[in-house]
Amino acid sequence: MKYVLEVLFPYIFLLYVFDCITYVKAQHLILTSLFGKKFDLKGPGLHLAGLLPTSQTIITHNLPLFFTLDGIYAVFDPTGSNRAINKAEEFNFIKFQDIELIEVEGKNLKLNNTHTIKFPSSLIARFNARYINKLKILSPSEREEKIRASLSDSFDLKAVKKIATSNSKSFAIIKILSSCLFVLVFFMLPLVLYLNLSKYVNLNALVICISLFYFLLLFAGFLTLKKLYRFDNDLRSHTLLSIIFSPVNAIHVISYLTKDLYFRFNYLTLAAYFMPRDSFKELAGKEIFLIDYYENQIDRQDWRKFLKLKKELLQGLLDKCEISLDEISTPPEKQDQTAVCYCPFCMAEYKKKRHNCIDCGMVLKEFEWDDTLNLYQSERSDHSVLRGVGGFDSNINYS
Ligand SMILES: [Zn+2]
Repeated sequence: MKYVLEVLFPYIFLLYVFDCITYVKAQHLILTSLFGKKFDLKGPGLHLAGLLPTSQTIITHNLPLFFTLDGIYAVFDPTGSNRAINKAEEFNFIKFQDIELIEVEGKNLKLNNTHTIKFPSSLIARFNARYINKLKILSPSEREEKIRASLSDSFDLKAVKKIATSNSKSFAIIKILSSCLFVLVFFMLPLVLYLNLSKYVNLNALVICISLFYFLLLFAGFLTLKKLYRFDNDLRSHTLLSIIFSPVNAIHVISYLTKDLYFRFNYLTLAAYFMPRDSFKELAGKEIFLIDYYENQIDRQDWRKFLKLKKELLQGLLDKCEISLDEISTPPEKQDQTAVCYCPFCMAEYKKKRHNCIDCGMVLKEFEWDDTLNLYQSERSDHSVLRGVGGFDSNINYS
């Protein structure tokens, strides 16, 4: 058995590392934490997630997808621009009465067999399909109420806290079991296999110990999955099968359990709870800026009404976090003293004057010259002034 394990061990290790590599698509986001305490928000690209048995991963998104009283506004191929800001002409509008077919294929939601929205998980795709189905059959007044309630739910900070705290005990047990398994598999096993410590540790006993922890972890994972995703058989069986067919992945089962746990919340609500205050403030500032910018891009009542509601809810979230609007609209601190202008959205600085930001296309603002300091200082950011300065056209595709 020793020889077989010596040959297999590098593959087991690689299998584990490969399972930690996550590819995040455009407009999708993941929140990751090594020890389950301090979370980072990761955007498009390759990332490591679930590296340790204590690591947690949460899948979320910031898709350009708005459900208004009249229909759905969406950018169906956000990979085309791969930017945080979309131009008005990139949005398509579909009226609810024109939606005849809603299908979910894995992570993709298809409308009328012509438009596809790519969600970061199949649970989020199914959740949105049910939501569109409901909105479609409701009367306008009921629909307005439903949109308000659903959007309000997605900004419910208390509900996020409740989910996080109500599962803390079962997660703690799983973390202890998986940490033990991690030490046995990635420390004890190679020591016994390659450093000839078999005089002190019996290999057969070690393998039995590993198997015991694996089955205990499988059982604890099964019970927690049953509690967390009571109404989603597909997700439960898919997660369980991933661990059964690749036992080494049981070591970071906590990441499998948490990734879909907050599927119904806006990414800003998750950021408010899981991320450091300054990081959340930065994201909230960008979102407020984006809402103000979008408001003037499409001249339709339902569009403006939706954005107004979203802004109200975001302001409510900021109030709960005791953050004032002034705090998040403070101008950026100049990083490069030779810079003459900056992007009010992505905060990129430019040494030469130009009209639009290379990264996001937003119209740039100039730093203000301050005689007392003999330096350029950024002018005070005022969202009402910034509104409508975008260089994009207000054309929209109605389909
Ligand atoms: Zn920019």
